[in-house]
Amino acid sequence: MRGVVMHAPGDVRVEDREDPTIVEPTDAILRLTATCICGSDLWPYRGAEPVDHQVMGHEYVGVVEAIGSDVRNVQVGDFVVGSFWASDNTCEICEAGYQAYCVHRVLMGTVGTQAEKVRVPLADGTLVATPGQPDADLIPSLLAASDVLGTGWFAAVAAEAGPGRTVAVVGDGAVGLLAVLAAKQLGAERIIAMSRHADRQALAREFGATDVVEERGDAGVARIKELTGGLGAHSVVEAVGTQESMMQAIRSTRPGGHVGFVGVSHDVSLPGEEMFGAGIHLHGGPAPVRRFLPELVRLIWDREIDPGKVFDLTLPLEDAAAGYEAMDQRRATKVLLTL
Ligand SMILES: [Zn+2]
Repeated sequence: MRGVVMHAPGDVRVEDREDPTIVEPTDAILRLTATCICGSDLWPYRGAEPVDHQVMGHEYVGVVEAIGSDVRNVQVGDFVVGSFWASDNTCEICEAGYQAYCVHRVLMGTVGTQAEKVRVPLADGTLVATPGQPDADLIPSLLAASDVLGTGWFAAVAAEAGPGRTVAVVGDGAVGLLAVLAAKQLGAERIIAMSRHADRQALAREFGATDVVEERGDAGVARIKELTGGLGAHSVVEAVGTQESMMQAIRSTRPGGHVGFVGVSHDVSLPGEEMFGAGIHLHGGPAPVRRFLPELVRLIWDREIDPGKVFDLTLPLEDAAAGYEAMDQRRATKVLLTL
């Protein structure tokens, strides 16, 4: 089969890779319908994380082609969505809704879903089957549920977005935009998107943003305070992962408020004294997407949400390198790869 390998920073190639096979009786093999490039794939691409001949990709939707002898919840022929963490969905941590921290978890990035086929460990706990074969126009949204929607959703939940609350979202990448959508679905009263890109501002408004703030850093914080009677937002989503964005999120939050941070942290350190004085709740990390998948699949299937709009470039898998380049150069927010 064909699949993406990142040889070194900036060096993405599509190569012949060995077809996956059932290794554990709890495995499933999927023939992928679509996959995509994640903002987090840009960290190694830009040399901010080490990379050496690594298979890439952790988002996926597809059709079950084979199952191991212990798999009960999905069948050959099912169309399925899975999280970027494989999880058993039965351990105490999973039962509490933290499947990204499952005691048996496997990171799908180590399997590499930017490929024609993929082996999914812990298939029963990881995969959610759709009610039937989806119409083609639903594929991007179902694929978004695999990570960016699930992650944005978790960020909004972690920030306790809900009725009567003002939510600010730091970061206008796919996750930030979908956190806006999630906040809207969760009933937030006011949603402030922080973005300086016209096209992303427009999508944020379409997803439910009521206000847009273009300022960043201290000026961005001042603007949020101004919009919230000097108090700060109740709920703030951080979807970037840098020192500046994290402090912007923390300082935009009112005392007693909540920050949901899902941008993969890079060289972020929090000042203890300021944190002590802030009086806020911090919750974040890798999103337990599997907790939300059944609900997200339902909302997409019933066409109540259309998160697939975050994909603004579609390329064949063979052109993955061009997709990485477009996202690196910010010519694309998120790239869908067809198979
Ligand atoms: Zn578990």
